[in-house]
Amino acid sequence: MLTLGIETSCDETAISVVDEGEVLSGAIASSVKFHKAFGGIIPEIASRSHVESISYVLKEALDEGGVALKDIELISVTQGPGLPGSLLVGIAFAKALALSLSVPLIGVNHVIAHLYANFMNGTKVRFPFVGLVVSGGHTSLIYAEAVDHYTILGQTHDDAAGEAFDKVAKIMNLGYPGGPIIEERAAKVKSAEMRFPRSYLGPNSLDFSFSGIKTSVLYYVRDHKKRGGVQWQNQINEICHAFQSAVCEVLINKAIAACNRKGADSLMVGGGVSANGALRKGLAESTEAEGISLWLSPKEMCTDNASMIAGFGEALYKKGVRSAFDITAIPDMGI
Ligand code: AMP
Ligand code: MG
Repeated sequence: MLTLGIETSCDETAISVVDEGEVLSGAIASSVKFHKAFGGIIPEIASRSHVESISYVLKEALDEGGVALKDIELISVTQGPGLPGSLLVGIAFAKALALSLSVPLIGVNHVIAHLYANFMNGTKVRFPFVGLVVSGGHTSLIYAEAVDHYTILGQTHDDAAGEAFDKVAKIMNLGYPGGPIIEERAAKVKSAEMRFPRSYLGPNSLDFSFSGIKTSVLYYVRDHKKRGGVQWQNQINEICHAFQSAVCEVLINKAIAACNRKGADSLMVGGGVSANGALRKGLAESTEAEGISLWLSPKEMCTDNASMIAGFGEALYKKGVRSAFDITAIPDMGI
């Protein structure tokens, strides 16, 4: 069964062809270079870029997969959460394709789809499991009981983990997106002495808060500018390391706590921040110590892609799920 996945929730226009969980192609056009100057995503630029790119991305995905459009049997598209204008471009495109090809349409949840990046190319998943989605817009702990049954165990009260990486990079003028830059800087630190506070929101909470650590970095930079002393510019690597350690520690401890609370023996991780090497290493060590099996998305499928959208759509289709042709964008789509 050939499924076309379409993802336009943020700044990536992505289309993939997936055949029964096997990724045949994944084409992506990113508008990130246009947002860099602003240190974050400008929604109007993102949606206009989707309009400009989407037909070319479709052609590339079909060519790369060696597939003709007429052979597509299912269209799966991100319905939310995401930027309204951006989502609408993908949804309108998906509807037009599904109608013209007379094939079914499925609108899927982007956050859950991040977990499906673990299930592609022959990897079979056993339910239930705990999912950790750490991206630019979300930090969520999810209990997955079946393909169509998920509950939220915890989520962020303020900034998402990726958003915190981006904002901290912006405070130090390091560029955008901040995650990969901070990881590279942090890796240069051999012995770490600097430490920022961790926010656990109480001993039993599975929720997150990352705005406090971001503010700690802001104050550190501000105070080391004002007072002279050690210039913060000479400590960028240390600041990156201390920030990354604090974020990773909280993510790892809460993910383990969620598994223990639900008695789950598997942890699935996805989203852009899960490309972070320190997080991957820490999760591997902690899950091993706890006897939990860990599933990390392949690095190229951590950030937004359409293979995970196609994969999740296929799984829902097999459960009998279909979307009507009047679906629209749900920017704040819940689980
Ligand atoms: P997504 O929203 O899933 O597309 O992921 C994008 C987010 O992931 C951005 O906030 C990035 O800063 C973050 N990100 C990407 N790579 C890394 C990394 N290596 N370490 C930490 N965060 C990352
Ligand atoms: Mg995402």
